Amino acid sequence: MTGHHAAEKNGLHGIAVSSGIIIGKARFVDRSSVKILYQYLINDDHIQREVDRFREALRVTEDQLTTLKTRIPDQGQEHAFILDSCLLMLKDGMLNEATVKRILDEQINAEWALKKSLEEIRKIFDQIDDEYISSRIGDVENVTERILRNLSGDMQEGLEEIQERVIIVAHDLSPADTTELNISKIMGFITEVGGPTSHTAIIAQALGIPAVVGLEGATDLIRDGDLLIIDGNTGQVIVNPDDGAIIRFQEKQLEHEEYKARITRKSHLPAMTLDGHRITVKANMELLDEVVAVKDCGGEGVGLYRTEFLYLRSKGLPSEDELYEDYREVAEIIAPETVTIRTLDLGGDKFSSELEFTRETNPALGLRAIRLCLKEPEIFKSQLRAIFRAGVHGKVRLMFPMISGLQEILDAKEIVDQVTEDLDRDHIQYDPEMKMGIMIEIPSAVTMAEVLAQHVDFFSIGTNDLIQYALGIDRVNEHVAYMYQPFHPAILRMIQKVVNAARNAGIGVSLCGEMAGDPLCVSILLGSGIDELSMNPRAIPLIKTMIRSLSMDEARKDFENVVCLNTAREVRAYLLDHMKGVLPELLEKKYLEA
Ligand code: PEP
Ligand code: MG
Repeated sequence: MTGHHAAEKNGLHGIAVSSGIIIGKARFVDRSSVKILYQYLINDDHIQREVDRFREALRVTEDQLTTLKTRIPDQGQEHAFILDSCLLMLKDGMLNEATVKRILDEQINAEWALKKSLEEIRKIFDQIDDEYISSRIGDVENVTERILRNLSGDMQEGLEEIQERVIIVAHDLSPADTTELNISKIMGFITEVGGPTSHTAIIAQALGIPAVVGLEGATDLIRDGDLLIIDGNTGQVIVNPDDGAIIRFQEKQLEHEEYKARITRKSHLPAMTLDGHRITVKANMELLDEVVAVKDCGGEGVGLYRTEFLYLRSKGLPSEDELYEDYREVAEIIAPETVTIRTLDLGGDKFSSELEFTRETNPALGLRAIRLCLKEPEIFKSQLRAIFRAGVHGKVRLMFPMISGLQEILDAKEIVDQVTEDLDRDHIQYDPEMKMGIMIEIPSAVTMAEVLAQHVDFFSIGTNDLIQYALGIDRVNEHVAYMYQPFHPAILRMIQKVVNAARNAGIGVSLCGEMAGDPLCVSILLGSGIDELSMNPRAIPLIKTMIRSLSMDEARKDFENVVCLNTAREVRAYLLDHMKGVLPELLEKKYLEA
């Protein structure tokens, strides 16, 4: 996989997930545990603020535990006492007032003071000569850990505070961490874990930060302050490069910038094939701020608004009004184009402690997305109300994620009916004509596509998850990243089946997985009959440029030809051969090397 890069001294090779080349200093960040604590003194002016911060963390912890308690199913009620005892602990003077006293007396930060209180309690427990009681120190530790987590939420240790221009080196960054990166300071990042369609990767791309993931051993090899070169186009990372390498990569950097400028010039114009077929190219987005990139890159609307991140970012659940304001702003900015708002898709690698029922062994297969929403109708309804209300201010479509079969559509629609009835009753304005669609990203939905098409207004194929579930690979695991194969014949045949089902039912079908923005896939996706592509905004300029040099006639032939091949490798070879002259030279070289 490394090709000629292996020759580079001090070179590492990972999975390139966000393009661009940067040279800068390493900043080591440990996000794997809240136990890494900062200890610092607080001056008189800020001491009351520190006490307030601690009390607020106690309050949030109490709310979380109370919510968790209400979620214990009837058959598990005998375990509720554990949460009761945790709630009591929060009120215990040794944890609570003793910590406040420490902050005030010793003028130290809340985390440090709380740690000291925990040590004190631990000493007392150690002296108790009763195995049961002394074993309960684990509960005290759990509660303390939770308070610490809630405190650090406030403190944003590290990421937001970094004031120099650096390259982040971490074992892992969660998608939520990534949304916090201060992009005027963070030049790029590398992580040891992660796959090509992990949400951390997707967000790095949306923010335009070069990134390489799956770099095993990086945190052992790289020291804080090391000079690094990151090539987000190839996945190459060089530690403490010599002058020759620096010059070589500076040239590559220039070449990349020129190439980007060239393809961006026409990104606002429509994408029309040589034989006159107009293809709609929309953008995916995760946070309100990205709406600027959608516009700048020439997105013709938003084909997928991933709404999870607002939930991951806020403390507690966002209110209906907060959601409404957010959706309304996006709808207004994107109007007259359409915004497809996907309902909450928490779970998998997008994780919120607020909505955590129990830690799941298999989060990708767990209580996530639409399943979670159907189980927690109040959370679902609040989001649906916000979406329907926002529909008045632009063109909004509603989309449900992770649909596995008809029942979930019927159940979701029933809740939608309740929501619109409530809005009518309360005389609140909403869009009564809102179109409703589903993500096709679970193989069972592909099998049932003909049936599902009778019940919705559109399909959007989510290949990130479809590949994960169809090929049985965890999309965030770097060890199976080589199996992320959009060209797998099984995936191509699934796409074909979904497009045919949509066509026969007369509904629209789009594709919004990372595959939509993959230059090697453009021709076959057009040829498959998909009406609309939605992708990371940064991919739009190139995809539009490529569509302009393709003919629909040829694209159809390409699709017919590849769909009957037997392996992903054959499909890829076919495409590399047939896309000569359409793929930019720079990319062609890269693909041939890989
Ligand atoms: C997908 O699964 O392809 C998709 C677009 O959604 P997400 O990446 O948010 O799971
Ligand atoms: Mg998905």
